[in-house]
Amino acid sequence: MTVPPVRAIFWDIGGVLASNGWDRDQRAQVVQRFGLDATDFQERHKLIVSELELGRLTLDAYLDQTVFFRPRPFTRADFVTAMLEQSEPHPETLAYARSLAGRWRMYSLNNEGRTLNDHRIRQLQLHEFLLGFYSSCYLGIMKPNPSIYRLALDLAGVDADEAVMIDDRAQNVEAARSVGMHAVQYQNLPQLQQALEALEVR
Ligand SMILES: [Mg+2]
Repeated sequence: MTVPPVRAIFWDIGGVLASNGWDRDQRAQVVQRFGLDATDFQERHKLIVSELELGRLTLDAYLDQTVFFRPRPFTRADFVTAMLEQSEPHPETLAYARSLAGRWRMYSLNNEGRTLNDHRIRQLQLHEFLLGFYSSCYLGIMKPNPSIYRLALDLAGVDADEAVMIDDRAQNVEAARSVGMHAVQYQNLPQLQQALEALEVR
């Protein structure tokens, strides 16, 4: 039996095409800058963040519970700006991803809250080379639930063995493989290129 060629590529965004969005390091930076109690913030964040990433909670409601549950000497706008500023592009990986567009159908498959996701799509100009955004905040389901990979495959109209997932987290990569997709755990650009070349994506 021959292995079918790869027809679609699914990209994680945070940790692959850009820095992580609102992950531990980014939160620590902003929490310190605004003088918040790190332990209290972390506890509050942990309780509610999945609702944010599933698109069931607005960023304002998230901030009401995690930051503005008491008066603060800074504004909500300043805090949101600092959150969004944490997001840094990975220019070489973005350029490589762009170079594959046209020959492979490409989509995002990522976990993110809506405000940050919308910001990054614009900031990184992802709409120029990704055909769709299978983001947790739009689909209401998150990686590493295997169902989100099946849903993305259905929406893209490809079989699992014709698709490759690129993600920096081992657990998300394992979940992609569990539904039959090819998957690469992203570490750096040369390693990604080599892994994709082995799948005849070059
Ligand atoms: Mg990631």
